[in-house]
Amino acid sequence: MNQGYLEKKKAIVEAIDALRPIVEDIAVSLYQNPELGLEEFYAVSKLTHILEEHGFCVRREIAGLPTSFSAQTGNKTPRIAFMAEYDALPEIGHGCGHNLIAASAIAAAIGVKECLPPEEVDVTWLVLGTPAEETIGGKVVMTEAGVFSNIDAAFIAHPGQTYSLGGTSWASHPIEITFHGKSAHAGGNPEAGINALDACVLAYIGIRNIKNHLRDGVRLAGIITHGGDAPNIVPEKATCRFTVRAKDSHYLEEIVLPRVKQCALGAAQSVGANVEFRHYEPLFRETLEHPVLASIVADNFGYLGQELPKPEPEDGGGVTDVGNVTWETPCIQISFATTDARGHSREMANDTVTPRAIEATLTAAKVMALSAFDLLYFPGRLEEAQNYLRARHEKN
Ligand SMILES: [Zn+2]
Repeated sequence: MNQGYLEKKKAIVEAIDALRPIVEDIAVSLYQNPELGLEEFYAVSKLTHILEEHGFCVRREIAGLPTSFSAQTGNKTPRIAFMAEYDALPEIGHGCGHNLIAASAIAAAIGVKECLPPEEVDVTWLVLGTPAEETIGGKVVMTEAGVFSNIDAAFIAHPGQTYSLGGTSWASHPIEITFHGKSAHAGGNPEAGINALDACVLAYIGIRNIKNHLRDGVRLAGIITHGGDAPNIVPEKATCRFTVRAKDSHYLEEIVLPRVKQCALGAAQSVGANVEFRHYEPLFRETLEHPVLASIVADNFGYLGQELPKPEPEDGGGVTDVGNVTWETPCIQISFATTDARGHSREMANDTVTPRAIEATLTAAKVMALSAFDLLYFPGRLEEAQNYLRARHEKN
């Protein structure tokens, strides 16, 4: 490999090592000030302030989200984005480690900006602040608003128990089903009532059984969220919610959801009730794996001497809003090892501010920055990644 290339890689690694105080500052301050989705005002002000200090031009509240932002430097192509998340969980704070997702994205972006400045290299470097991953899925909204339509590649890094190339995630489109019957005195004149709860219970059982006649790789978990108001009143309204998940969003939308609805409709008809459907969360698509990015990222883990454990045969059921981005632009979500604790736990939150976590966050930032550099240095690879996505769309 030519010398300029290797020197540049070394420079990127050194530049990111020098950003350790910033990474620590972001990790600790967000850990101490956890905010729920769409309320991440402290985080946004902290992150955008750092980016502005480093010469990025910031736009806030993009795609109509109060706590989103886009920070960029340069105005040529390719446009390469690092995605930050920064929402926390109720009670347990940064138990999903999104403070470190933010820190790694900022460090990667500042690192490449310093080593590959847009004044010298044709590029636009961006940080996209993507709020509310745990709730509404900020990236779903941002994808629908076209935020990713002119992005040429995107990177994100999620903390957890292992280093990995990320792999796939499931598609999810949760649904709320409400049954409307007619109230009556349950003891006095039950014959005058239409029991919405009976319909709901029948639907619950029916929907749970649909799985027997579907492909593997479907999850239909549900609860009854409203089953009436008092036992001496025939329930006029009953509601259940199902997290409808599948490996493939086309199968989910075209086969699974229609069956779920058909089942609920049948249950409603059997007691004479009406039924109403509402998606209380948007469609989260499955994560499309991008082989070109995966191979570049794997090489850069290797360059840093970071071994990757053999991938688990099949991770089941996880969902992320990154999935929607992977169908818009070549995008990869890598994982980095910060903790031995399970996800969404207090222990994982506490483990985001340890020396081990800071070191791992720097490694993740380096892998993303080095991989972004590779896409600039080998434009054929970027083209290959984009062609792959195009071909996948045609296949579907
Ligand atoms: Zn997370």
